[in-house]
Parts: sequence; structure tokens; C-alpha cells
Amino acid sequence: MQFIDLAAQQARIRDRIDAAIAGVLERGQYIMGPEVAELETRLAEFCGAKHCVSCANGTDALQLALMALGVGPGDAVFAPSFTFAATAEVVPGTGATPVFVDIDRATYTMDPASLERAIAHARELGLAPRAVIPVDLFGLPAAYPALQAIADAQGVTLIGDSAQGFGGAVDGRMTGTFGALTTTSFFPAKPLGCYGDGGALFTDDGELAALLDSLRIHGKGREKYDNVRIGVNSRLDTLQAAILLEKLAIYEDEIEARQEVAARYTAALHNRFITPHVPEGYRSIWAQYTLRAEGARARDAAMTALKAQGVPSVIYYPRPLHAQTAYAGFPRDPAGLPESEAAAREVFSLPMHPYLEPQAQDRVIAALGGGAG
Ligand SMILES: *Cc1c(COP(=O)(O)O)cnc(C)c1O
Repeated sequence: MQFIDLAAQQARIRDRIDAAIAGVLERGQYIMGPEVAELETRLAEFCGAKHCVSCANGTDALQLALMALGVGPGDAVFAPSFTFAATAEVVPGTGATPVFVDIDRATYTMDPASLERAIAHARELGLAPRAVIPVDLFGLPAAYPALQAIADAQGVTLIGDSAQGFGGAVDGRMTGTFGALTTTSFFPAKPLGCYGDGGALFTDDGELAALLDSLRIHGKGREKYDNVRIGVNSRLDTLQAAILLEKLAIYEDEIEARQEVAARYTAALHNRFITPHVPEGYRSIWAQYTLRAEGARARDAAMTALKAQGVPSVIYYPRPLHAQTAYAGFPRDPAGLPESEAAAREVFSLPMHPYLEPQAQDRVIAALGGGAG
């Protein structure tokens, strides 16, 4: 059994992907070919954002966001500790300081009360609170309404890291439309993945979109050889855009299939583990299906039982960022990050993808001692 089965999706649309790749080879516009702009239009339509600017990967998308906002030395950027490293990795390079925030115990996304404490602490340290990067962890949108209210009151810009959450929604409003900017990733294993690296940013602000477009192509101005600012080289390959156009066409259907897989797991496992909590009005896209065991020993036992039955499971994430060597020295919520630490000890993720058959799910459930309803 595969943890994420990319081959099943490929088998479904292989003809269309082959044709899309052949089209790019025929036209020969490998850099910024017409597929790139077409994909940006479709992605913006999909989530309801006014503008989409694609780039080379999800980490670059975060870096471009901070560059576009002019984040720099003396600034504080708030990020959850319980996330993939990229969320905070981009901050020190700008000269700003990442400040770690705890997660909510039930949703694993940024805890608004911890954000407020972290902002006050940053001010005490003499830093200027500039941006907050909540993460749509495991596919569940962050608590955007509460976080935006704090960001507004504190004069902090909100950037949504939706690398795992593109297509998720809060009260019908999709990720990509919250905050000043949203970033996403098309890394192959993400819910909307390409066949290599890829990423994108979303915003409703036309000036910000134009700035991002310049920054991703060496700070280009109107004339090709008059670069007007210091940028980077971070374009999405035409080939990846062509592949993503075909994948986007079936994405909503895949998100629906993920709901069924998740519902089936929850029905069979909620008596034995803490199953994922999706708050009222929220739509998760189930980048991961993550269970919580009662302590590290119970988690070990569950993962061992799965392994014995040939079922893969993975810990996202075994170490919160504030406990990692490169990040241990940065400031954090002065109340500590107990929920990030507890989650790292207790959670594990099951095989999850839109093509997971009920029979395969039954094997996972049986290995965990779960049962119907
Ligand atoms: C995958 C991921 C990223 C980085 O995306 P890449 O395309 O791999 O650079 C950033 N943030 C989160 C939360 C991620 O899961």
C-alpha cells in the first residue's frame, strides 16, 4: 500500500498529460509559455482571488511574499512551530526574526491567543511586528477570521501558507482569498501537485501582483534589460503549468473523493483515537489524515501494528521548529509551545489520497483495531 498513490491519478489522466507535454514540446516555449498565464487565470478563478502569480516552488512563494512586503531587519514575522520548516525558513534571509507561535490543540493550526502573546513579546524585544504566516496544516484552513482580527488590530500583514490547503474553505470562502497574500506549493505530494517543483501566490491587490511578477523575474521593469529592483529567478516551468492545467481540471472531484476517504476513517476510528476536528463551516482538503494517540507509547504501538500489516504511516511532524537546531535560538510565545510539543509526540498520519479504495482503507482500519461506525 502507498502512503500517497500518485500513479492512480496519473493512470486516470495519462492521455491528457501526454498531450499537454507534447504540446509544449511542439511550441518550444519552455519559459513563460502561454500555459503559465492560462494556469494563473484558472487558479485565480478556482479560488476566487483576483490575481495569481506562479513561481518555482512553495518556499520561493513565501520568500517572494516577504520581499514584496519589504520585510527586513528589525521586523518580527510570526509562524507556527508545528509546520514544515519552509514556513519559517524564509524569514531570517530577509534580515527579520521569526517568532514562534503555538497551535490550537484540536485543529493543529495557529492558536490566536498564542499569536497575541507572541506579538506583545516581540514588541518587548524591540522588534516591529510586521507579518504573520498561519499554515493550513494537513489541509485544514487556519482560523482566518480570528487571526485577521488580531492582525488588523496590531497592524500586522497576514500571509496564508496554503501549501497543504489550496481548495480548503471557511464559510464557502476559499484559501487564496484570506489576508494580503496566500502562497501555495505544487510539490508532487501536495494535494495539487505537479511533476517537479512549482508554487504560486494569490492576492486581490493588483499592485502587489505586479510587484511579485517583477520580483520573480530578476526585478524586471518594462524593458527587458532595465531591471528596476533586486529580484530572484523563480518562474514556474511551462511544462509544469501544462501538467497542472490537466490536474486542476479534476481537482474539485478529487477533493470530494478525499472527503469520503476521511469520513470513512473517522467513522471507523473515532472510538480508538482522537480523529481530526473540522470546525463548523470549514472545509479541509485532507492533505493528511492525522490521528492522535494517547501518548508517545500508544502512538508507537499503533504505528508498529500498521507496519506489521504492510501499511505505511508517517509522523508529521516529529519535531516542532523551535526544537530544531537551526531554529532553537529564535523567540517564541513566552507562555511556551506545549501544544506543538504534545502534537509532535502523539500524532501520526495514515495513507490518504483520492484513489484510496474502501478495501484498502479496511486494511488500515483493521490493523488499528477499528470497526464500523
Ligand atoms: C510543502 C510546504 C512548503 C514548501 O513548499 P515547496 O514547494 O516544497 O517549497 C511550505 N509550507 C508548508 C506548510 C508546506 O507543507
